[in-house]
Amino acid sequence: MEQEVVKVVKFGGSSLASAKQFEKVGSIIRGEEARRYVVPSAPGKRFDGDTKVTDLLFKAYSIATRDEYDEDEFEASMNEIFNRFKEIISGLKLDLDLSDEFKEIKTNFLKKIGRDYAASRGEYLNGLIMAKYLDYEFIDAADVILFHRSGRLNDKKTNKILSTKLKEVRKAVIPGFYGADKNGKIITFSRGGSDITGSIVSKACRADVYENWTDVNGFLVADPRIVNDPKPIDAITYRELRELSYMGATVLHEASVFPIMKEGIPINVRNTNNPQDEGTFIVEGTTRKPKYTITGIAGKKDIASVTIEKSMMNYEIGFCRKVLEVFEENNLSIEHMPSGIDTMTILLNAENFAKKEQKVVAGIHRAVEPDLVELESDLALIAVVGRGMKQTRGTSARIFSALAHAHINVRMIDQGSSELNIIVGVRNHDFENAIRALYDCFVNSTI
Ligand code: ASP
Repeated sequence: MEQEVVKVVKFGGSSLASAKQFEKVGSIIRGEEARRYVVPSAPGKRFDGDTKVTDLLFKAYSIATRDEYDEDEFEASMNEIFNRFKEIISGLKLDLDLSDEFKEIKTNFLKKIGRDYAASRGEYLNGLIMAKYLDYEFIDAADVILFHRSGRLNDKKTNKILSTKLKEVRKAVIPGFYGADKNGKIITFSRGGSDITGSIVSKACRADVYENWTDVNGFLVADPRIVNDPKPIDAITYRELRELSYMGATVLHEASVFPIMKEGIPINVRNTNNPQDEGTFIVEGTTRKPKYTITGIAGKKDIASVTIEKSMMNYEIGFCRKVLEVFEENNLSIEHMPSGIDTMTILLNAENFAKKEQKVVAGIHRAVEPDLVELESDLALIAVVGRGMKQTRGTSARIFSALAHAHINVRMIDQGSSELNIIVGVRNHDFENAIRALYDCFVNSTI
């Protein structure tokens, strides 16, 4: 007998910002019986310049916990939030009264119960509304998404409890973004974390697909703020996605692939405002040939570099470790580490580094007695990512000739050992032009 298809559907904040958006979501869910588990975000922006409910909650909590507490200001900020939900409930003509919930939330804010609790209430309330609207069961994420006290997800326990629960419930709404520790204290993921909840739920119910509904038609080959009308990506592998999102492509939370990476469950990113579009499939592997040699281009600006020079450094055992320890002691995470025979360079976020640069330089002198330590900032890193690169001759030649033709000086080159990406460093002010030149070369031209 053929097994029944199960889909987990996660909707982002802009898909749930108003009653009208809820209606679109409702018809998407009702359109397929397989869409059995729903993970909502909190209401997002309804229009440009609007504020997300999660941000309103953070603001209200800071008003509640400030030394000079102002009751009127607190009341006003809570009412602004509750009105967002009331507007959705009345727009959908639901017979749902959340006043007891609102009262409890207010009391808990004044008890200073925690910032994570405050932030999570947007998803919680939206979940209650969604469950009522769809006539699905509501499962509080605090009961099934479990965290260690340290704030790290307890993935084993979560998977055990959640999968048992989902076996009992055919159709349910599980709010995104939060869970709880063993004492019931609410803990959230980092911002945008409902994507992670969707992934955890998909793993627990062994979904056939994890549909992540947002407000764009999936992933694009390059950032549309830089490249005019970039082409969509039909299929991308988890690993390619990791490279691109680490480098700044922001459609999905960068940690959202981890729970399902070993499960082989595809993620399908789709647009609530354009449900006919098939969106992007994120998969473990595919025989689908990418349309272009590259899958995507992404990058980040404001990178600093620290170059350490010392003759014969390659004979000194432990040299790299000692240098890296200096960064570790200063709590700095590093991005890349290209090296030469007598030099090594550490690339890292310029803003974080600026605060600690002199301590780091002194630390390096003490640790390895270098001949020279040179600092630079204003660098940008661009990753050209593609599973097709391994088999294709001349990809790096094309990258460098495209950049040379655009009069862009390449400051650094690093090819990841996976042969999945080539990273180039350019000046900050060349960043956008470099991305446009690379896009043109791989997508618009056939040579
Ligand atoms: N509402 C949360 C945020 O704005 C989480 C999410 O939307 O995924 O970050």
